Amino acid sequence: MIKVQHLGKAYDEKGKAAITDVSFEVEQGEIFALIGESGCGKSTTLRCMAGLEQPSEGEVQLRGERIIGPWEQLIAGHPDIKLVAQSYDLFPNMSVWENIKHPIRKYTKEYQQYRISELMRLCRLEGLENKTPEHLSGGEQQRVAFACALSDEPAVLLMDEPFSNLDIPVKTMLRREVKRMVKESGTTVVFVSHDTSDALAIADRVAVMKDGEILQVGTPKQIYSEPANSYIAGFFPYANILSWNDALNVLDLSDKKASAVCIRPESVRISVAHDEQKTKAKVIDVEYAGADDFLILETVKGTKLHAKANAFEFDEQDDVYIHIDDYYLLDK
Ligand code: ADP
Ligand code: MG
Repeated sequence: MIKVQHLGKAYDEKGKAAITDVSFEVEQGEIFALIGESGCGKSTTLRCMAGLEQPSEGEVQLRGERIIGPWEQLIAGHPDIKLVAQSYDLFPNMSVWENIKHPIRKYTKEYQQYRISELMRLCRLEGLENKTPEHLSGGEQQRVAFACALSDEPAVLLMDEPFSNLDIPVKTMLRREVKRMVKESGTTVVFVSHDTSDALAIADRVAVMKDGEILQVGTPKQIYSEPANSYIAGFFPYANILSWNDALNVLDLSDKKASAVCIRPESVRISVAHDEQKTKAKVIDVEYAGADDFLILETVKGTKLHAKANAFEFDEQDDVYIHIDDYYLLDK
């Protein structure tokens, strides 16, 4: 559907490129996430895909046709591709209804009525028709921005950090809603986020970026369970990335070779009963987090590990025994 090929962008000729040799392909109806730290080139990639930024190298194709850059045409952008910027860009003086109507204002009254009603339902905005954006919550504004972006039925919807300005409960709800809206409308979506949980929650596939380059593309499960290197493994909160020597304190790694080992917090099994087979450790910190509590443990040899456990069952300074159920070798 949309193909990014060897894309490169340098904002000034002498400076370092913002992105280098970025390539990936997104299928029709897919939700694709670009994740990475601030400044790694996510927005630049998205803007090139929307035809709003002129690539220095490579190209973007939609259904086999090259997206024309802003230096090559009078009005930047592509009619089948919509970009929802981080700032939402709603018209402050217009009602929700008028905002959603704006992209389709040239169509017949009947079509507008039909399409806006459908979007109000899809984006769960019923009852907010006459409000102006300033009277809406962050989550409602985001949903209006979606409705506006979807109103002219773009083939591809690009979203820059769509969930970053929202509180966690709103964000969790909205992520689910976005997935439903997108799947129901059949739109192809590429969104950008610096938060891995967004990508894990709704993306069909994920690309991890660092310093303007793509490090790995895969399903959320592949990125999580088969990270290509220690940077990606460590991009998920609470991952234990251990040096080889530290890993030897908790694992039998005979015949194996790598620079580092990743142990997910859920792979650290904790027992309180004395057990010679297991590694002795001490609880040095307990983090209550509701559904996902974490402990920080330190083995007798000084290796620190994050472990998932019910925080109410443990106290600081408790002696425990640990067994590692699973691990991944990194940077072999
Ligand atoms: P992200 O969205 O991942 O935070 P960006 O694509 O915005 O990253 O930025 C990538 C790099 O390009 C950064 O070093 C940033 O400072 C630089 N950059 C982004 N936009 C511009 C611009 N319009 N002019 C010059 N440099 C820019
Ligand atoms: Mg950005």
